[in-house]
Amino acid sequence: MALLPWQTAVITRVTQETANTRRFFFEIKDSGPFVFRPGQFVTLDLPIHDKQSKRMRSYSVASWPDGSNTFELVIVLMEGGAGTTYLFKEGKPGMEIPFRGPLGHFCLPDTLERDICMICTGTGIAPFRSQVQYIRHAQVPCRDIHIIFGTRKIGDILYRSELEQLSRDMPCLHYHVALSRETPESWNGHIGYVHDIYEKVCENGQKDMDFYLCGWKNMVDEARNRLKDMGYDKERIHLELYG
Ligand SMILES: Cc1cc2nc3c(=O)[nH]c(=O)nc-3n(C[C@H](O)[C@H](O)[C@H](O)COP(=O)(O)OP(=O)(O)OC[C@H]3O[C@@H](n4cnc5c(N)ncnc54)[C@H](O)[C@@H]3O)c2cc1C
Repeated sequence: MALLPWQTAVITRVTQETANTRRFFFEIKDSGPFVFRPGQFVTLDLPIHDKQSKRMRSYSVASWPDGSNTFELVIVLMEGGAGTTYLFKEGKPGMEIPFRGPLGHFCLPDTLERDICMICTGTGIAPFRSQVQYIRHAQVPCRDIHIIFGTRKIGDILYRSELEQLSRDMPCLHYHVALSRETPESWNGHIGYVHDIYEKVCENGQKDMDFYLCGWKNMVDEARNRLKDMGYDKERIHLELYG
């Protein structure tokens, strides 16, 4: 299949979501609607190296297809990371960035016939936020959807009020947060890791479920192994690895 052409995205807005995470809003130059499937990503070409192969960084689209020529990315600053250091220092409204996309296959089926369990840490929430917002806006019929989000502290929770509101608006949506560095005095939700939560959700032998795992390798590997040990077929476990 031919590679998608490079296009230009212009930053229209940047907001600080947590201490080390920002939301970047883009408009695509000279383009009609940005047509993509929730869960896909874009690749940016950042001016951080002479060789193009070393300049490319991929980011899941955090917004959902709404007929506009815009998209949103949610990006965490990696200590010593070339691309994110550049974006956090230089990424301001008006900046033009070449990008290619949409890319990837980390998408839900067109018909949602089984329960869904979305498991993520940090900015791994991006494709899931896109998917659940799309389900809501397009009124896609669905069964139960669990979003299980893990991070360290209360202040690191991404899209918290939005997802809390969404779970009130959508009776099928169950939003779970696991915080590894809080205490019972500071947080009355789950303290620990995402793994405890999906194990509990599935403890009654719930088998009719598809799992989508997104984020950094350690969490994704561990979740995949635990799900296999729980008896889930590998066809039911879908992965998007950030690195
Ligand atoms: C499909 C996909 C979707 C993604 N979506 C998102 C998303 O939505 N949000 C998001 O935040 N990220 C996402 N990522 C991750 C993203 O692509 C980048 O990997 C991330 O932003 C780090 O890029 P960077 O250039 O800042 O770090 P890099 O320069 O690539 O470095 C990565 C890490 O390695 C360390 N490092 C670099 N060079 C060395 C060295 N020589 N020796 C030792 N350590 C070194 C750095 O300190 C850093 O911690 C996604 C990745 C993929 C593949």
